[in-house]
Amino acid sequence: MNRLKITTTLLAVGVLLSGCMDASVPLSELEASDFTRTHQYMVKDTLQLDDRTDFDRATKGLIASDDSLIIHNADGEPIWNMDQYRFLQGPAPHTVNPSLWRQAKLNAIHGLFEVAPGLYQLRGYDLANMTVIKGERGWVIVDPLTTTETAARAMKMVNQQLGKRPVTAVIFTHSHADHFGGVDGVLADQDRDRVEVIAPAGFMKEATSENLLAGPAMVRRAGYQYGKTLTASPKGHVDLGLGKSVAMGSIGVEVPTREINKTGEVVEVDGVTLEFQMVPGSEAPAEFTFYLPQWNAFCGAELVSQTMHNIYTLRGAKVRDALQWSRYIDEARVRFAEAEIYFGSHHWPVWGQQSVQQFLTKQRDLYKFIHDQTLRFANQGYSADEIAERVRLPDGLKQTFSARGYYGTLKHNIRGVYQYYFGWYDANPAHLDPLPRSTVARRYVELAGGAQAMREKAQVALDLGEYRWAAELLNHLVFFDSSDQRSRQMLAQAYRQMGYQSESGPWRDVYLSGAQELIEGVKRDGPSMEKNMAEVLAKTPMVHFLDVWATRLDYEAAGDKRYQFVLGLTDKQQYYLLEVANGVMTYRQIAGSVPEGVPALVLTHSLFIDIATRRIELRSLLGHDELEVSGDVIDIVSFFRLFDNPEPGFAIIEP
Ligand SMILES: [Zn+2]
Repeated sequence: MNRLKITTTLLAVGVLLSGCMDASVPLSELEASDFTRTHQYMVKDTLQLDDRTDFDRATKGLIASDDSLIIHNADGEPIWNMDQYRFLQGPAPHTVNPSLWRQAKLNAIHGLFEVAPGLYQLRGYDLANMTVIKGERGWVIVDPLTTTETAARAMKMVNQQLGKRPVTAVIFTHSHADHFGGVDGVLADQDRDRVEVIAPAGFMKEATSENLLAGPAMVRRAGYQYGKTLTASPKGHVDLGLGKSVAMGSIGVEVPTREINKTGEVVEVDGVTLEFQMVPGSEAPAEFTFYLPQWNAFCGAELVSQTMHNIYTLRGAKVRDALQWSRYIDEARVRFAEAEIYFGSHHWPVWGQQSVQQFLTKQRDLYKFIHDQTLRFANQGYSADEIAERVRLPDGLKQTFSARGYYGTLKHNIRGVYQYYFGWYDANPAHLDPLPRSTVARRYVELAGGAQAMREKAQVALDLGEYRWAAELLNHLVFFDSSDQRSRQMLAQAYRQMGYQSESGPWRDVYLSGAQELIEGVKRDGPSMEKNMAEVLAKTPMVHFLDVWATRLDYEAAGDKRYQFVLGLTDKQQYYLLEVANGVMTYRQIAGSVPEGVPALVLTHSLFIDIATRRIELRSLLGHDELEVSGDVIDIVSFFRLFDNPEPGFAIIEP
């Protein structure tokens, strides 16, 4: 009752005060409004934030940790920095949701941990964990992080603290780069031919192609999701929910020597017995979990974690099957029922048979709840927006930290399930063929009586703490006139308060990134993905690569003309006939000889990748002996000119 009184008072004070924002303070230093403070108090009130269970688990078995943990790439640029999170001490500041603050502190605990004798984890060396299992002759490495640099640093810690032993096997639990990209860092001085590499069926295809077609847009959107250009601070980036951040170093991949195909398959490697469970099409298209009978330990990979995961991912990705996901968790719960230890690819382990069962049950129920309730309401005629607004987690899940939305959120996952079954259309004819955003913006501004009148309405919404409505109005104003600085500032204010209130790390990063771009514009940052991904691209099958290239065709530039050329790859002994007609580029592999009258370009595979990814200009190579041209050079150059290069920093918060 007392709290309610305070809340109401704060609301009233908020209405009076928040209109008079100090214009001399830069927006990046914007304080939490009274509405945001009230929101944070309410979060604190509803959760057992002083429960220490997870902190005890996250620190249990610590062997050693680095006083300072900053990892650099070969050019000396920092690509991983745990020191920047030292501000995560004491109670949550008003600018951070207290529940996210708690998760952020847990994820900031880093070091080498003993999960059980002979079973170790490195946590906080990258977004994901690296697990190290003591075999008879050496180390079995599970999930060697995202980058060569971070994995090498983690491996150094292992060798220093546990003694230097050879790497006898590497296990990739799934096809996401944060679990395989650093493989070169753990295999650097190893005899690779003697290292067993175990991965789920379909791993290589998914690892090299899952995100390739939609790559540039996904990278740009991921910049928002991961808060790539935000500074770590109580008013900036604090956590991703799943871990601290994404390392931005060199990514590699190793072809598996053994693919696992079926649940129940038992493999012995370096004296370690592993029993696998296949979970494809859950969190990743190719994924397995496994059980270690010698330890009674269950590795849940990323099927389960200490957060609600993404059914839908904000960076943009194919929606996942929540029902299947939940079924797999139940299968693991029953199959590995005697497990005394759970450990995973992210976060801290769980010890004790009953605790493991409880943890798995809640994770199972979480995804099933989201799935079932979305369909329940959809079948009553509710739209995705309405379901997301209406459904709340039941108490048993709401009070369980591992079920809370630190990474995925209930709202966007409900929309994800809706999309999985129904797609983008909500069956309302008004939404079948809506006007484009800029047109709608102009019409609404006119309807409101002009920009000034609309801004006044938006100001009232800001003053009342109605940030979602303020953002709706101000977004129209910015799309109507992107040079309207006042509206941009007001929208940035709304986004900042929404970010401060968010429990999900990615939601916070999305709002704060939007606020930052409204004021400072798009920031270019760091090395390009294509540079980091060079090795992965080199191992990507040609057909995937040509599929990607085809999506860059400027069909208007191509017009009605028909273009053909032969692409020959000397080192692969492969020839492809590429053709542009009807606004599409098609290709097929042909036998060794070049057809009569068709121009041909013959070069190495890696050089072609360099040209196609625009690291090298084709024209600068003409006349050199790295490539061989037959037929008309102009035809080949004009063929390449039909493809455009996606703009990496395209506009998001404005037209
Ligand atoms: Zn992961």
